[in-house]
Amino acid sequence: MQTEIKQITPQTLAEAKHIILTGGVVAIPTETVYGLGGNAFDDEAVRRIFEVKGRPNDNPLIAHVHSDYDLSKIIDRDPPYAQKLRETFLPGPLTLVYPSTGKVSPYVSCGLNTLAVRIPSHTGAQAFLKEIDIPIVAPSANLSKHVSPTSAQHVYDDFAGKIPLILDGGVCVGGIESTVCDVTGDVPVVLRPGLITREMIAAVVGSCEEYVPDLKKGEKVKSPGVLYKHYSPRCKTVLYACERTAEALEFCRKAEGKVAVLCEEKIVEAFSKAGVAVLSLGDTETEMANRLYDLLREAERICDTLIAIEPQKKDGVMVGVLNRLRKACVSVDILH
Ligand code: AMP
Ligand code: MG
Repeated sequence: MQTEIKQITPQTLAEAKHIILTGGVVAIPTETVYGLGGNAFDDEAVRRIFEVKGRPNDNPLIAHVHSDYDLSKIIDRDPPYAQKLRETFLPGPLTLVYPSTGKVSPYVSCGLNTLAVRIPSHTGAQAFLKEIDIPIVAPSANLSKHVSPTSAQHVYDDFAGKIPLILDGGVCVGGIESTVCDVTGDVPVVLRPGLITREMIAAVVGSCEEYVPDLKKGEKVKSPGVLYKHYSPRCKTVLYACERTAEALEFCRKAEGKVAVLCEEKIVEAFSKAGVAVLSLGDTETEMANRLYDLLREAERICDTLIAIEPQKKDGVMVGVLNRLRKACVSVDILH
């Protein structure tokens, strides 16, 4: 199969619609990362997405709809605080998890009694979703466990020959996946951190909890995706806490093969002065979210070992950035 990258035009949207309505998958841009889209009502299309990605079949998918879509077609219980969150943050990088009504394919939620719904703000994603006007499941368009894609080229690198069409909407501004927030209970619970932070949600609806799975109690995990190793570049990785920069520098000096360091801008000099290749995450939390995946993909091109240093700031959007970085890289404490 030939894989084409095409700009979003009325013609390519019509082409994408035809592919989706005949059970195929199309990669689409969103404001967070690129997604691999398929018809949420079509069992075969949903199964095809799991197959193409190599995604474990207990890791549920998010249904994406456009901003004028009538949500009552797919959900029924909608607490007032969830409405408030939609009014405040959507369209945008926030996924809400509702009780399921069984309207979409059972393969979407992998046996959970909930359905995750997202309304992306990217104009290309909106145009695509409006053209098709049905819920589209769209997990991140990367091979399972690999780094999520923030450009059409990243998607091509993972899926050339496996999908027919990638709609090119430019580089994603957000850079990490949406915040996933459960709205099935009395208060919202963040299942996966992202650009819409727990503090931002609490400021709107009074409170917001963070989900920490306690598997020892035999509890069934609410969001299986949070357990997997994820987002990993195809090179050796070693992650250091920011207090251990001197130790990381020493590791660079002794390491064999090509080494690169991923760190925030303010400590770049310490490594570049020592002659080490540096991939800078930048200064601000939005810059770091925006650059993270592109740099992890760059790392696998340029080095054998990536030394990653955790940025100093740990709150706000950095909760999401650190969540991804810690799953992508192996902690030095585990290596030793
Ligand atoms: P991805 O599409 O690759 O960004 O991954 C989707 C994320 O949303 C994963 O972490 C899933 O576990 C989570 N998710 C999707 N549907 C549900 C659901 N019904 N309940 C809880 N988490 C979900
Ligand atoms: Mg993913």
